[in-house]
Amino acid sequence: MSATILDGRAVAATVRNDITQRVAVLAGQGVSVGLATVLVGEDPASAVYVRGKRKLAGLVGIKSFHHELPATVSQEEIETLVRQLNDDPSVDGILVQLPLPDGLDSDRITGIIDPGKDADGLHPYNLGRLVLDRPRLVPCTPRGIMKILDYYEIEIQGAHAVVVGRSFLVGRPVGLLLGARGANATVTLAHSRTKDLAAVTRGADILIVAVGVSHLIGPEYVKPGATVIDVGINRTDDRLVGDVDFDAVVNIAGAITPVPGGVGPMTIAMLMDNTVTAVESRL
Ligand code: NAP
Repeated sequence: MSATILDGRAVAATVRNDITQRVAVLAGQGVSVGLATVLVGEDPASAVYVRGKRKLAGLVGIKSFHHELPATVSQEEIETLVRQLNDDPSVDGILVQLPLPDGLDSDRITGIIDPGKDADGLHPYNLGRLVLDRPRLVPCTPRGIMKILDYYEIEIQGAHAVVVGRSFLVGRPVGLLLGARGANATVTLAHSRTKDLAAVTRGADILIVAVGVSHLIGPEYVKPGATVIDVGINRTDDRLVGDVDFDAVVNIAGAITPVPGGVGPMTIAMLMDNTVTAVESRL
């Protein structure tokens, strides 16, 4: 039997409606919401992502303030811009699109963003709150994954969740969210040094794959009926593919996200959600 397709675009549309309403409520109180985007250099994928984020901001009524800097910009110049955005009362969320060109210290830049305006949820303060099980602004992709599971009523409590990939952007935070009080999964975090990855992932009721290797996960990695969330975005000559071999796994999994149209739309939606949350939690 073919798996249920977990449609990230459909879930993102519900989040979008919710955000539009919250922005309208704030507007009724005389409060506007602003998101600053910072794009450094000419990376085409980053330019596409930032364009998508600005477009969605416009659709939900968030003002967008865009800054483009050349790849030759100095560390000091970016830091000065971020500090100006921290001090700007019309800016509620700040997004510095990663990765930055070589030579720039992205950890340092993330670390000087005001944690209350940290739309990406990647500041050490916000990551620390996640570890403490008292999350505030949560990294967008992990939060988007939790929304998809919630929307499709996938049972998390007591489930064995295996997360493949341990980045601070996706793998580690989604592992924390799944294992948090309230979610209550039992979490295994796998990575490139995991021995016999297929044996580990076959134990998963919920399998999250955030690696960046196209079609790493074939049918032999998946327990029949498991929920499979494919975070990977890999560019082939003519299309985007995930880390999961969708066509081979769709007949084994109970539910699966496609690429594109799965996690990706949720990441952008949660960026807007974080920006509105930043305003609401300040009022
Ligand atoms: P990353 O920082 O490069 O981390 C990749 C992780 O995968 C690392 O922990 C690495 O292990 C692990 N890994 C690498 N090869 C492996 C293998 N053969 N077997 C098991 N684990 C392996 O990547 P990321 O930023 O988390 O992104 C992962 C993917 O998600 C990328 O394709 C990225 O484009 C995509 N992504 C998508 C969205 C979205 O919105 N859909 C958002 C963010 C990222 P080690 O730690 O041992 O090196």
